[in-house]
Amino acid sequence: MQQKKEVKKKKAFQLVKGMRDILPEEQRYWDFLRDLINKIAKTYGFSRLDTPLVEAADLFVRGIGQVTDIVEKEMYAFVDQGGDHLALRPEGTAGLARAYVEHGMHNLPQPVKLFYFGPMFRHDKPQTGRYRQHWQFGFEILGEADPIVDAQVILVAYKIYQSLNLPVNIQINSIGCPGCRPDYENELKDYFKKHKNRLSELSQHRLLKNPLRILDSKEKEDLPIIADAPQQIDFLCEDCRNHFMLLFEYLDDLGIPYALNPTIVRGLDYYGRTTFEIWTAEEEENSPREAGGEAGRLTDSAGRQSALGGGGRYDGLVELLGGNPTPAVGFAGGVERLIAQMKEKDIKVPEREKPEIFLAQLGSEARKKALVLFEELKEAGLAVSENLSKSGLKVQLENADKQKVKFTLILGQKEIVDGTIMIRDMENGIQEVVDFTKVVAEVKKRLEKSNVK
Ligand code: AMP
Repeated sequence: MQQKKEVKKKKAFQLVKGMRDILPEEQRYWDFLRDLINKIAKTYGFSRLDTPLVEAADLFVRGIGQVTDIVEKEMYAFVDQGGDHLALRPEGTAGLARAYVEHGMHNLPQPVKLFYFGPMFRHDKPQTGRYRQHWQFGFEILGEADPIVDAQVILVAYKIYQSLNLPVNIQINSIGCPGCRPDYENELKDYFKKHKNRLSELSQHRLLKNPLRILDSKEKEDLPIIADAPQQIDFLCEDCRNHFMLLFEYLDDLGIPYALNPTIVRGLDYYGRTTFEIWTAEEEENSPREAGGEAGRLTDSAGRQSALGGGGRYDGLVELLGGNPTPAVGFAGGVERLIAQMKEKDIKVPEREKPEIFLAQLGSEARKKALVLFEELKEAGLAVSENLSKSGLKVQLENADKQKVKFTLILGQKEIVDGTIMIRDMENGIQEVVDFTKVVAEVKKRLEKSNVK
């Protein structure tokens, strides 16, 4: 007796921690959102700009700021074979601003309106709704200082969620400009110093380096201290105050619900003046929330809050990256979180195109002929599906049944000899033999009839 040789199965590879596959059944959400973002971009005059996933690490260190979670802890930075210090992009704005400078877009009529849709990488603690590769769509307006463009960016963000019937609320703040922020930061530092012992460890660390970020803390022990902290709005210079007030007027005119929230400071150094986040809102509530209200912000499995999207003004970034002084404002939304919300709220997206016809074959001659016929049916614009690799008729018919097609075309040995093909109506089981050369026209005729019914 021959002995069976034992083959040891190799250990199967698994996803890298924090990464996820987007499986075929989820793709319709992605297709739908890509279409929606493209449509909204077209309506509001934004052009698409794709930047590479890899940039000089220094672009983010300089642009986002050294003392930020992203640069300190989360950036995928590496030295490549040529010795260059590179990073996988953790967000979209810095690369986009680099491209604006590099391609001389300041020579174009201003403002320049750009959008993107692509993956970002952050070595964050992975959990539900928080991945190490996640996707963002973003809208940016460069070359205009007037708050009317802040309002327009917020409007575009709002429209995306509103068009999905997803109730959202804009949480808005102003973090002032380099002129008025230092006074506020000093005041804030003094205040937090007084409460230092009660602050979380993370906030104590931030107190030394970036006290504004304490306002962004989600640590429980920090919240009551943050609630009584001095607010930037009381320290805004006249220009920043006017900018903020005018923005409110525009948002009121547009009927966009927003809430003033002094804790929205955003994590990145390049922001100034307007900062905002998009939170989910309960369906019945369309009125502005109280300042600092936490309801509506999504919570992840660790109890940390996270927004659907966020953005703000970054007037200093382009200059910081070597360009001319260029005021700018933008917004980015998370795709995975939006899809999770759509599923939770049972927001329907169109099914992917379903086949209406199945092409079955039996025997090697029929299989050859079916291969060519499949192309003819496709070229005629018909939604057709097949299982050409299968030789049994039963399994093919079961497949046709599962796909709920309207008609199945059957090409067997007899049909090959006769120059015919069988059309089976899947609804009533009636089978008809037609001339092979007329099959495309015959199928079209039957489909039209069944669609009118
Ligand atoms: P941020 O620049 O951090 O405000 O990110 C913009 C949006 O991207 C957030 O509001 C989230 O919706 C989404 N986002 C950020 N980080 C992650 C992550 N690690 N996983 C999934 N989505 C994320």
